[in-house]
Amino acid sequence: MSRLFYVFGNPINHSLSPVIHAMFAKETGLDIRYEKLCLEKEDFAGQLRELLAREAIAGANVTVPFKLDAAKFATTLTERAQRAGATNTLLFRAKDDVLGDNTDGIGFVRDVENRQGVDLTDARILLLGAGGAARGLIAALIEKTHAITVTNRTLEKAEALAHDFNLKSCSFSETDAPNWDIVINATSASLKGAVPPVGEKALSGAKLSYDLMYGAKPTVFLEKAQMLGSKKVADGLGMLIEQAAESFLLWNGVRPLTDAVYEALRRRI
Ligand code: NDP
Repeated sequence: MSRLFYVFGNPINHSLSPVIHAMFAKETGLDIRYEKLCLEKEDFAGQLRELLAREAIAGANVTVPFKLDAAKFATTLTERAQRAGATNTLLFRAKDDVLGDNTDGIGFVRDVENRQGVDLTDARILLLGAGGAARGLIAALIEKTHAITVTNRTLEKAEALAHDFNLKSCSFSETDAPNWDIVINATSASLKGAVPPVGEKALSGAKLSYDLMYGAKPTVFLEKAQMLGSKKVADGLGMLIEQAAESFLLWNGVRPLTDAVYEALRRRI
């Protein structure tokens, strides 16, 4: 019988995860079913308990707005999920034994190092944004480098996040300097076609400018970075696929190959 997996979110219609996991299943020859399910925003735990009572679910991905609820639902958290303060992957090991993990940060690390070919060891990083995605990234990045500066529109949030991980923070107005190897846009500005007010010299001096958002065309942030002379630019499609591969590994004990999936999805979006 196929093992059953879900991705929970609200909204969830746009999710590429079922397509990605179907490709992983084909590539690894495993018999899995992976469905998307839109849950009501209230009472994540109650809805999940009801579902678990009805169906034998092996694991789940969890996306906006349920990543904190999922962390609470888990009975054990991996170290990186604890550091991130959020969970995007659940493994249902037994009744009352639910492992929570966060694969977003490691997905970013793998995409940057293996696909973009940029070494993160001791890299100087400027991180734009202080929301859930920024925290998830830091939770994995600090295993590679502590030279991370956090900046955010609401400066106090950048300061609090930097403080939690013993990192530096600064305001956007202090970013006009060629001081960083990698500039990461972990804000949601690109969703609205906006660019965070990062200094031009930060982008022109970067070996890599990376936007967590992805789409058919480069985001306005990536267009600006390219125009200003960033050596490389990349969007978050690779991160999305690599975080999915890490979840797949946790659930099935096999890490699927991701390059063909990346090429296929790049064509599809
Ligand atoms: P949150 O809502 O938690 O945080 C949003 C962040 O963006 C805040 O720091 C906010 O600043 C900032 N922001 C929003 N609008 C602007 C703007 N116009 N100018 C400057 N800053 C702005 O979102 P998440 O952290 O969950 O997600 C951030 C992005 O990352 C999203 O686009 C999401 O789709 C993407 N993502 C991609 C993944 C992938 O696999 N590729 C995985 C996870 C996320 P303030 O605090 O001042 O409000």
